[in-house]
Amino acid sequence: MYCGCRTMFLRVAGCDYRCSWCDTKYARDVKQARQLLFEEEIVEQIKERAKGITHRVTITGGNPCIHDLSRLISLLKNENYIVHIETQGSIIPYWIYEVNHVCISPKPPSSGNMTDYASLRKIMNSVVSKELKVVVGTEEDYLYAKKVHQMYKHQPLTLQACTIGDPLPMLKWLISKVSLDPEFSDDVKVMPQVHVLIGIK
Ligand code: SF4
Repeated sequence: MYCGCRTMFLRVAGCDYRCSWCDTKYARDVKQARQLLFEEEIVEQIKERAKGITHRVTITGGNPCIHDLSRLISLLKNENYIVHIETQGSIIPYWIYEVNHVCISPKPPSSGNMTDYASLRKIMNSVVSKELKVVVGTEEDYLYAKKVHQMYKHQPLTLQACTIGDPLPMLKWLISKVSLDPEFSDDVKVMPQVHVLIGIK
């Protein structure tokens, strides 16, 4: 939903999933974390890099929900940052209700994970400001995305073309399918993985 808007992007290491196409191995494995920082140090780095220009922080991973981020979120809010989280929705920490917006990204079949629908239902029912994002890389993923859309028809949904290698062919395939599919509403967005497209690691 906020793709294209200015934000500070904070990746925390560690994940309860092992997606087949995960492009951030350092993020899913805590041992490969690039830096070990206390919460205060993270906030200082964000302030230094944001230079007072952006006031949004998007925390992603890995899965940020495996950690206790309550202190970090409270420090960020004290500095007047708007805090967004991206998670697959498999774990629902108590502090998630403190963030301003949650992007919930249940993983499709090609990831090799099974969706915990009870957990998905719980997070969808309990978080107020939210959106859904589904990565699509195969025909089976496409059907999965449709199922998620049928379950949560009135929630904003982005379909993100799964890209390992050249991002454009998969994006074109997905656009051509969605644009002629009456089961998707006009509000469903198709997007590339922008950070891959512009080469951000
Ligand atoms: S949920 Fe995200 S970080 Fe975790 S393994 Fe899957 S793609 Fe990687």
